[in-house]
Amino acid sequence: MAKEVIYRKDYKAPDFLVDNVSLEFDLHESKTLVKSRIEFKKSNADATDCVLYADDLIFISVSMNGELLSIDDYILSENELVVKNAPDEFFLEVENEINPKANTSLSGLYYSSGNLTTQCEAQGFRRITYYPDRPDVMAKFEVTLRGNKENYPILLSNGNLIDSGNLEDGRHFAKYEDPFKKPSYLFALVAGKLDHIEDSFTTMSGKKVALKIFCNPGNVNKCYHAMASLKKAMKWDEETYGREYDLDIFNVVFVDDFNAGAMENKSLNIFNSSCALADPITAVDAEYQFIETIIGHEYFHNWTGDRITCRSWFELTLKEGLTVFRHESFGESVQDRDVNRIGDVVKLRNIQLPEDLSPMAHSIRPDSFVEIENFYTGTVYEKGAEVIRMMKTIIGDENFRKATDLYFEKFDGQAVACDDFVSCMAEASGFDFTHFKLWYSQAGTPIVTSTGEWDKINRTYKITLTQENKPTNNQKEKLPLFIPVKMGILNHEGQEIDLILNGKNLGKETVLHFTEEKTEFVFEEVHSQPVYSLFRDFSAPIIHKNKLEDEDKYFLVKHDTNPFCRWDILQQLSMDILLKSIHDEMVEVPENFIEAFRIILSDENISNSMKATLLTLPSEKEIESNCEFIDHQIIHKVRQEFISLISIKLHEEMMDVFGETYSKKEYDVSAEEIGRRSLHNICLSYLCANGEKGSIHLAEHQYFHADNMTDQYSALNILVSKAGERTAEIVLDNFYDLYKDDISGFNKWLSAQARRDIDNITDKLREIMQYEKFSITNPNNVRRLMGSFAMFNANRFHTEEGYKFLTDVLISLNTINPNIASGLVDHMCSFSKFKEENKEIILRELKRLRSIDKLAPNLQEKIDNALKAV
Ligand SMILES: [Zn+2]
Repeated sequence: MAKEVIYRKDYKAPDFLVDNVSLEFDLHESKTLVKSRIEFKKSNADATDCVLYADDLIFISVSMNGELLSIDDYILSENELVVKNAPDEFFLEVENEINPKANTSLSGLYYSSGNLTTQCEAQGFRRITYYPDRPDVMAKFEVTLRGNKENYPILLSNGNLIDSGNLEDGRHFAKYEDPFKKPSYLFALVAGKLDHIEDSFTTMSGKKVALKIFCNPGNVNKCYHAMASLKKAMKWDEETYGREYDLDIFNVVFVDDFNAGAMENKSLNIFNSSCALADPITAVDAEYQFIETIIGHEYFHNWTGDRITCRSWFELTLKEGLTVFRHESFGESVQDRDVNRIGDVVKLRNIQLPEDLSPMAHSIRPDSFVEIENFYTGTVYEKGAEVIRMMKTIIGDENFRKATDLYFEKFDGQAVACDDFVSCMAEASGFDFTHFKLWYSQAGTPIVTSTGEWDKINRTYKITLTQENKPTNNQKEKLPLFIPVKMGILNHEGQEIDLILNGKNLGKETVLHFTEEKTEFVFEEVHSQPVYSLFRDFSAPIIHKNKLEDEDKYFLVKHDTNPFCRWDILQQLSMDILLKSIHDEMVEVPENFIEAFRIILSDENISNSMKATLLTLPSEKEIESNCEFIDHQIIHKVRQEFISLISIKLHEEMMDVFGETYSKKEYDVSAEEIGRRSLHNICLSYLCANGEKGSIHLAEHQYFHADNMTDQYSALNILVSKAGERTAEIVLDNFYDLYKDDISGFNKWLSAQARRDIDNITDKLREIMQYEKFSITNPNNVRRLMGSFAMFNANRFHTEEGYKFLTDVLISLNTINPNIASGLVDHMCSFSKFKEENKEIILRELKRLRSIDKLAPNLQEKIDNALKAV
């Protein structure tokens, strides 16, 4: 059944609103009975039919105001229950049944690993019971859970626990009341055998909040990092946004089978355990850092998402863009600021930029969709965060805080639109955001070209900016965007000069408003040949093509006072070398570049983590985005050779730093120690790039003697790719033996296998999928295996065997978990720049997938878009 396209412009406020809901669950893994009592109030006087949505429910009965309705009073279909001639005010009582065990989609209420868990965003609540399941219907919920005490000793839902006790037949119950109005997508329940840790947080007004983190038995020791992160986040939100937590209790649950990373259900956050559990033996540093920010993200949603939610799913970026921006700022303040900012930009370039270049390109606030699940994207999230950041850059920190205060004050308890948020930004700052708002509706990444011209006689420096906004799949006409350009100018000694524009001194750093297709900014009193430094801290999500001479670029690598720009210009230099080498099919690395790396390695003023960041070349994915024609095998080969050459030329220096960053100190996750390990391991990877025996020996030693997963896993990946197949097999087998029973360790092993650069890789991976430990119903297993293969092993994935393999897996996933399938199909949906032979195979495989019976709407939407773009 083909689903229809829905449009943002067709939005209509709900005909009926809900004041109160009470839900009763008789929990059972294969047969859960749900009873609801919903109090409706008509909000559109002309409305007669009251519509409740449904998906995969077994209907039992419906009554109105206590009287059973007859079949003439309502229309029941697979996806709706329509109550005819509904009065102005009434309550409905509905009974239905669901089967959590048969629910492998992990949307709605599902049973896995012994627990009952829910995931309701975006439209999972209608898989639990009949309800006006849309975000602009906000109600107070009261929930009663009943279940077998032995199987489900823990019963959790949103809000405060108001009653609990024993029932007959070994059952018990718990009753929760959430005093805050919320949409149904924020409903949650969890029932199961869970261990927990406890702590508390005293809010700025002196209220003590009980904090509990629940996990599967045996994992409590891995919850402490998350608890510490939560407390940090609560404090940060008070200090930075003045937001205080609003209930007496805050529960967090970690589960193994979960589609997303986490979910911000009111006072009952649920996390994929892979994004939450950590100890030094099984988690790497990056996971520790990720946990800190994702815990923050879900907590911050309490205000930006829960208290104020979205009017419709088209407005998703209202809560996600803003909350990503909040968690990124949190990360910058509790971790290394500059390295964090660079990390976020790298993510944008690896995930969001390819989206803009694909047939699924969409604006941060899409105008239409078939399946909303397909729009939980890098564009809505990460680019959405950049749009918020730009507003802050334009109006400044103080006005931004005023504007968010106003937003919280004005819209608390409501479901609103992106326009409402921007109106607060405008009102609080007095700035006119009319033109800027184009960022919400226009898709694609602008390309900004810059040139600088010094006029020796008039002592002026003219910076010319042009922007190009290329057509995207569904949007051919584009307008120039409002682009904030944070910038400075350096004199030939590397000092920042005063910026004098139209006679006004703007200080050493300013934000230019670049709003036309082409603009010239003429700076005065520039007494010697300068160099510009533009888009500091990545002040806009654009592609910057500067026309600086290489000499000036190397000058900036050395002298730019903005760490982001130093890194970015070095990335540009790397990219130039990579693109030229791809074109010539021969790699040559200029001495200047090697010298820049050499200086970085020995510069005592650069932190270790920043050094590691500077020494990392653009990924293959980023290179692809910069190529007119994509040959994955050549890109891979060239990048590897580039690394090899650096390794040869800087062997001695890398060896020195590798030695200097060796430590026997006990593992800890301070920013300093994380930085040290990161530099140590990047040096090791350079040293081993040519498979040279002595270096491989160092990696082997590190693998077998490391006392923490960061060092061990780095060494494993280096050995797997550089030490030859025999050694690779030995360490992979050893790693499997060590960690096969640990979910996180096992997932790492899957990922390491998927990245192997070997001829029979697809046979190997198909074989792994047959292992008893591997489960295709577990999203983490699938993502670690298939996602890593497609994303990080392009050399092997972009082959006939690779495409066939992914298609076969997608066919299985179509019925098991369409949401996960939809995330993976992206890897085959953007192929216009591929080699002809690859295009042909992809088309054949996509058509094979398109033709299967009961193809899920998520897959259908993406495949149709891809085929349409051919
Ligand atoms: Zn979120």
